[in-house]
Amino acid sequence: MNIPVTSIHGIGPVKAEILKTEAGIETVEDLLYYIPRKYLDRSLIKPMVDCFSNEEVTVGGKIISVNLIRRRQILLQVDVSDGTDIVSAVFFGAAGFLQKLFNEGDFILLSGRINILRGKQIVHPDFDFIDESSDIKSVNTGRIIPLYRSTNSLKKNGFDSRGFRRLVKSVLEHYISRIEETIPESILNKYGLIRISDALKGIHFPDTIEHAEQSRMRLAFNEIYFFQYYILLLKKINNAVLPYSRTISAKAAEKFIKTLKFSLTNDQLRAVDEISADLNSPYPMNRLLQGDVGSGKTVVALAGAVITISRGRQAALMVPTEILAQQHYETSLKILPENIRTILITGSMTQKERKTAYEMISSGNADLVIGTHALIQSAVNFKQLGYIIIDEQHRFGVEQRGKLRTKGETPDLLVMTATPIPRSLSMTLYGDLDVSYIREKPADRLPVKTLAFPVSRLGGVYNSMRNYLKQGRQIFYVLPIIEESEKIDLKSAVETYNHLKDTVFTDMSVALLHGKIPQNEKDDIMLRFRKGEINILVSTTVIEVGIDIPNANVMVIEHSERFGLAQLHQLRGRVGRGEHQSFCILIHPEKISGDAEERIKILTESDDGFIISEKDLQLRGSGQLIGTRQHGFTDFEFADLGTDIDIIINARREAEIAISELQDMEEELNNIRHNRFNKQLKGLRHKRILSLLS
Ligand code: ADP
Ligand code: MG
Repeated sequence: MNIPVTSIHGIGPVKAEILKTEAGIETVEDLLYYIPRKYLDRSLIKPMVDCFSNEEVTVGGKIISVNLIRRRQILLQVDVSDGTDIVSAVFFGAAGFLQKLFNEGDFILLSGRINILRGKQIVHPDFDFIDESSDIKSVNTGRIIPLYRSTNSLKKNGFDSRGFRRLVKSVLEHYISRIEETIPESILNKYGLIRISDALKGIHFPDTIEHAEQSRMRLAFNEIYFFQYYILLLKKINNAVLPYSRTISAKAAEKFIKTLKFSLTNDQLRAVDEISADLNSPYPMNRLLQGDVGSGKTVVALAGAVITISRGRQAALMVPTEILAQQHYETSLKILPENIRTILITGSMTQKERKTAYEMISSGNADLVIGTHALIQSAVNFKQLGYIIIDEQHRFGVEQRGKLRTKGETPDLLVMTATPIPRSLSMTLYGDLDVSYIREKPADRLPVKTLAFPVSRLGGVYNSMRNYLKQGRQIFYVLPIIEESEKIDLKSAVETYNHLKDTVFTDMSVALLHGKIPQNEKDDIMLRFRKGEINILVSTTVIEVGIDIPNANVMVIEHSERFGLAQLHQLRGRVGRGEHQSFCILIHPEKISGDAEERIKILTESDDGFIISEKDLQLRGSGQLIGTRQHGFTDFEFADLGTDIDIIINARREAEIAISELQDMEEELNNIRHNRFNKQLKGLRHKRILSLLS
């Protein structure tokens, strides 16, 4: 429906140009998707006489006077009356400019907090002009009215909220019957979704707030459905058959699992099955393994390596830090079958060691190669790399991951992350990957006990620390900053380190770790801590992700109010890895914000990274959740990745079905390229999709 706005009665070339340049509106359809920035439920407007000090209110009435007042600075006072009382809107700064906006006799709505000085006033209220003439009738009957962003040019040919209301209303009346449904009736019925035409009407002029929400949900479904549809289509088209055929598995993974000292959890077993199935399919694997810290992802990933190696190909495991590489190397030597030749390559190897390692890799004498970024150096050439594991994948850039892949011939790829994200988000962020989840922790694991104390109880905390140190345990002690600063009143790592070492735990070995310490010293400190030579490790948040120190059972975090949920959970994951009961002690000032209190409460109540990430998403919104911003995934217009979980799961499921029933994928791809500017297929206009299509 590519109808230019000039077809609308009353829109000539001048107005059309303003709509185009100032609101990006060129067609009738663009107008239908010019979504209100908010709604106004007139029934919620409070009589001014009933407004009390400090109350958040919306009031409305006629402007009775507009005055510039000169006190210490110039301020603008706009007195508004609804007949029951007067409320003044007060503005500081740009008063002269603002003055022009307000005219006596205009009807205006003010929202904000009531302040009672000489009279009732709201400082810097939100305000909207309402026209008494046309819309007001319906407003008075309790209509919810849409408020739109105005164009910059307001005078003459521009559009304010009221102008847009008229325009949209007229477009709805004349064109809505021509809007084509985008989703089969059967799907709409299945999920109780309203029709697209109804949704477009309801997003502008809802009968009730519920109607507005139903409309948004339908548009969100549309958006996600077409987004997923395209991602899945591309995934299928790109998933070319492997250039070699897989020899049918010799049950290598099963055999390997039987040799382990522990038995795998059900989630681990399922993940191994999923990986095995991928490795027996004619397509390359592209899988994300999500599991909380300590859920045992490494052994699962290694099971896949065992299969690949049993078929004569090589495997690589890339991790973000040397210490983690070292740890994985030791684990591998311990648990993998003896005939698997594992080597470690790191940045700190000598020239000679490096040369030997490279030779082993290129000759095929190394089966499993574990390393840091050192793995992607151009001198590293594999004989036949078939399987890649990337641990803590968010620590690597797309480029680095890509580089490792080019070292093999369509290698299978398993990426791992210990920052679980909610299903709704991973389906969207990683829509083109298959995902395995490990939610369950190994059975022998005692959940970490999390306690919160105000800083006045620190003495008691020191006493319990001493208690555990006496039993031979080790302790992490985390602070938000390295050194004291005049700007913020926070305890620092350096200061606390000195205090603990010189005053409180003089008989213990206390060490300090932070980001300004050179990498090799950091590694050395971590190694000494791992070996048990250090009793208390005072640090900032640099403590390595993924590090496994089973003997450390207490994690103290000062100024816990300063950290995000995910970060606190990650830090907590450093303990609880051994046989001893572990504790996470969250220290906070006496007085903290409601948000911080909520975060600390969530943490003391749950030890499940998936639950925590869901709450995090709800608290912060999808845009701020770790790592999502960089993906540019926040620009869904209708869907909220934090709360629309059902919509996302259902839309994905239906998109999967539709794709699986497709006859001709290439033709469909062409259709999409052709249709991508169709506003009704909203998801196809997502930044990521547009970039994939270009
Ligand atoms: P993460 O998922 O955080 O990477 P790891 O793979 O490092 O966790 O595993 C943490 C520890 O748990 C390791 O010492 C590992 O050997 C051990 N582990 C893994 N799976 C099990 C299991 N099923 N039972 C007992 N211990 C396990
Ligand atoms: Mg790990």
